[in-house]
Amino acid sequence: MHTFLPFQVDLEHFIEKLQNHINGNTKHVEELLAIKEKNYANFVRPLGMSGERLEEFFTPLSHINAVCNSEKTQEVYSQALPIITEYSTLLSQNLAIYEAFKEIQAKEASNLNQEQKRVLELNILHFELSGAHLDAKTKERLQEINLRKSELSNDFSQNLLDATNAYEYIITDPNDIEGLPQSDIENAAFDDEGVTKYRFTLQMPSYIAYMTYGKNETIREELYKAYVTRAPQNEAIIEEILALRDEMSKLLGYENYATYSLASKMAPDNKTVLDFLRTLASKSKKQAQKELAQIQKLSPNPLRSFDTAYYGELLKKEQYELDEELYRPYFEQQNVLHGMFEFLDKLFGIGFEKIEEPLWDPKASAYYLYVQGRLKAKIYFDLEARKNKRGGAWMHNWQSHARDEKDKEHLASAFVVCNFPPSNANTKSLLRHDDVVTLFHEMGHTLHHLLSDVNENEVSGVNGVEWDAVEFPSQFLENFAYEPKVLQMFAKHYKSGEILPDAMIQKLVDAKNFLSALGMLRQLEFSLFDFLLHTEPHTAQEMQELLDTIRKETSLITPPSYNKFQNGFSHIFAGGYAAGYYSYKWAEVLSADAYYNIIDEGVFESHTAKRYRDIILKKGGSQSMQELFFELMQREVKPENLLRLNGIEG
Ligand SMILES: [Zn+2]
Repeated sequence: MHTFLPFQVDLEHFIEKLQNHINGNTKHVEELLAIKEKNYANFVRPLGMSGERLEEFFTPLSHINAVCNSEKTQEVYSQALPIITEYSTLLSQNLAIYEAFKEIQAKEASNLNQEQKRVLELNILHFELSGAHLDAKTKERLQEINLRKSELSNDFSQNLLDATNAYEYIITDPNDIEGLPQSDIENAAFDDEGVTKYRFTLQMPSYIAYMTYGKNETIREELYKAYVTRAPQNEAIIEEILALRDEMSKLLGYENYATYSLASKMAPDNKTVLDFLRTLASKSKKQAQKELAQIQKLSPNPLRSFDTAYYGELLKKEQYELDEELYRPYFEQQNVLHGMFEFLDKLFGIGFEKIEEPLWDPKASAYYLYVQGRLKAKIYFDLEARKNKRGGAWMHNWQSHARDEKDKEHLASAFVVCNFPPSNANTKSLLRHDDVVTLFHEMGHTLHHLLSDVNENEVSGVNGVEWDAVEFPSQFLENFAYEPKVLQMFAKHYKSGEILPDAMIQKLVDAKNFLSALGMLRQLEFSLFDFLLHTEPHTAQEMQELLDTIRKETSLITPPSYNKFQNGFSHIFAGGYAAGYYSYKWAEVLSADAYYNIIDEGVFESHTAKRYRDIILKKGGSQSMQELFFELMQREVKPENLLRLNGIEG
């Protein structure tokens, strides 16, 4: 008997059922808190499972709202969201739960297994990072800080948005748009009393189009200057945000905001993060200089900040551009999907079996996943673009592998959603290579969730995995989409059956690595700036000095002094990336390192691949990825393998 939930959403009665569910949960929590002798089995696991069941009930609604969006799904979803949020906020502020966790941790420490210890650790940490355990006065100040911080982030975004919208550059001379792609020209064109003119703005597609293809350097400079001087009033906002973050971290017992940020992440300490970023920077520099020299050859004048995208594009056209259309026939969707299954079976020993059952769309499909012949999980694919489906690609976990209060085993399930070209009776869905990479990426997340053997739902699969490690399994798998031995399994011309020639595979790799060292340095500049900025409070002037110092290491062209990129750095001042921007590179390094171990062992002969399955995938969030990674590799991570992956000779 398996325990998969049937996929169904009763939109008519959803809110009523949700309310009942939450009322039931609330009562259940009260009953649990009333238990005199609380322990892991009678308190922690039942509480975890009640959260799990609520998630299981809610997930199909958010899934259907994303893939079969209608007025009805929107209405139900927007009614449901505040109900769920209110419930989880109440739980996260319930100090009695925190105290019960602490008590059980102290009392039962020696009897608990690793998974159970981790559940307690993470729950307690979660409470403590919000200051729930502190005295009333401190809590009040934390609340004020949080409120002010969210106002400031909001103002930051608003100022940026206003500045972006307020600017336009009108081109009247058709010579100035020569060389732009037709679609960008059409987007820019408008009629002014019978004369066609072209409007460029600071909105991403428009700005990028001119900076990449626009041959008039005066216009490029003008646009660039407007872009990097947006929202000067954000400088004061940043000062205040930084001061508040510093105060908050100290109230919570951390030396600075960077240390606070790392408390819930895989990276062990500030020094490790900084060393890691600096190692990559110093090893990328030589090649970045070579890349810049290549671009320089195409420009009559010394390159300036607003020239590199333009001349970089010329270089790409000359040497690296590949015609996606030539590749598509080799990547027919069903060939790719089944080829990926075959690859995963050879690498990890897992099998897939299609299930016939009605789903939300005739194009969606479901499969059972087997590990060494034993039913392990269920996976849903919804791969084609259609109306009323949200764009992009993602994995959405539904059920988690767990044992419930009665020790009954629950199996995991997840949805993989992409937006590939639609197929019909006459037309196959032919993918770009980028689409193949996307499918592998999402499958990496999916396997991380589905192959879990963890018995505690809160740290099973992707649950409880540190923020800076979440992209490790996805990027790991994505790397194989460039590996000839893997591509040869499914990259077959859908008409002739011819296998994708090696030269075409090499071209994919070369195009991926085009100007990779320059790109690497740029990301490292952002990461170093973000991290160092959060190691102590900075005034606006100190912040500029910090940026200038970092740029000496990472910028091969010194930006003009009017460049105030920081005033538009939304990731860290209006998003969730503060002292966390390094995570992009961090997860890439883990994935490249594990990947090359497997490649160097001959891919399918690799024993590291099986160990990866048994350590990284099976153990999910039950241990810090720092420990799991060490267990896998028997050594610390080697950043050099990311350089190798990007074709950078460090
Ligand atoms: Zn991802």
